[in-house]
Amino acid sequence: MGLHQTHICIIGAGMAGLACATRLAEAGRPIAILDKGRGPGGRMSTRRTEIDGETVSFDHGAQYFTARDPGFMAAVKEWESMGVAAPWPAAGPDAYVGIPGMNGPIRGMAHSRNVHWAIRAERIERTDAGWIVHAGDEQFEAKTVLVAIPAEQAAVLLEPVAPEFASVAAKVTSAPCWAVMAGFADTIGIDSDTVRSKDAPISWAARNSAKPSRAGEECWVIHASAQRSRELIDLPKEEAASVLLADFFEQTGTDPIEPIHLAAHRWLYSMAEAVEGEPARYDSAKQIGIAGDYLHSPRVEGAWLSGVSLAEKVLSPT
Ligand SMILES: Cc1cc2nc3c(=O)[nH]c(=O)nc-3n(C[C@H](O)[C@H](O)[C@H](O)COP(=O)(O)OP(=O)(O)OC[C@H]3O[C@@H](n4cnc5c(N)ncnc54)[C@H](O)[C@@H]3O)c2cc1C
Repeated sequence: MGLHQTHICIIGAGMAGLACATRLAEAGRPIAILDKGRGPGGRMSTRRTEIDGETVSFDHGAQYFTARDPGFMAAVKEWESMGVAAPWPAAGPDAYVGIPGMNGPIRGMAHSRNVHWAIRAERIERTDAGWIVHAGDEQFEAKTVLVAIPAEQAAVLLEPVAPEFASVAAKVTSAPCWAVMAGFADTIGIDSDTVRSKDAPISWAARNSAKPSRAGEECWVIHASAQRSRELIDLPKEEAASVLLADFFEQTGTDPIEPIHLAAHRWLYSMAEAVEGEPARYDSAKQIGIAGDYLHSPRVEGAWLSGVSLAEKVLSPT
């Protein structure tokens, strides 16, 4: 419990918030970051679980990322040299995954930053000196507040203090996604490590255990399409997991096999429909800004580019 004083307070330690923090820290700006998650990941989360006495992991959010922008490619090269990212050719020639889980780069970026985990920003207050972010028993006093959380949540938080940014975020619709995590005692009869489909209930599935540096014999992550996720949105997790596993077997023409581990996670906001315009927004008079994939493109790379863009705007306000 307490009052924290900082120059810049960033809400959200996902790829956008941490990319922004990294650039600002390089420029010597004091920063505090808060995130409601218990640990690093955001939508690049990795869940660890025990199967038959062995700790295995499932990347239940983003599956891999591509790197095409030169700045992002340089960041990815650095993550590779730090051992927190590696190519995964099964997903495409320019596909990378986090090491040892998808949250590897997030963990790496957060490591040397002042991140306060498990703290949820509930309200932002304007004061004569700047801003106070209220988060349970904690308060963060700052000259500048940067909001790097999913659009739907940003719209609610920003409405009272930055309605122009709230209305940008409110335009965004993000698709939900049910993610199933299934572990099997033996290999199932699917040769490929990835399954993709545009018009079927299962839009993506991957043999998570085939990614580099993953433990476990036969662990799969199965993503329902946006349409199938919406149809099943109110099901209890256990039921959604069973229904979608059956969809997966049927779609791939595989004989159903009883899993030894089965769980599901419901992402209410997974892939955002990005809004057009600037990749980040900053009000230099009020010293408040927004970043996130929804301002660029609904991908890891889009989130990184948006975060860096917001940092540049803070460092060189026009
Ligand atoms: C199921 C799924 C599959 C995907 N597949 C891919 C893929 O294959 N390739 C790809 O490139 N991208 C993929 N994506 C998209 C990619 O994960 C996102 O575009 C990217 O991670 C977004 O980063 P971000 O920083 O904008 O948001 P987030 O990662 O959502 O980070 C926002 C952070 O803010 C925190 N937060 C939210 N509200 C508050 C609050 N009030 N107070 C404090 N903290 C808060 C959250 O805990 C979170 O850590 C996928 C996403 C999902 C969910």
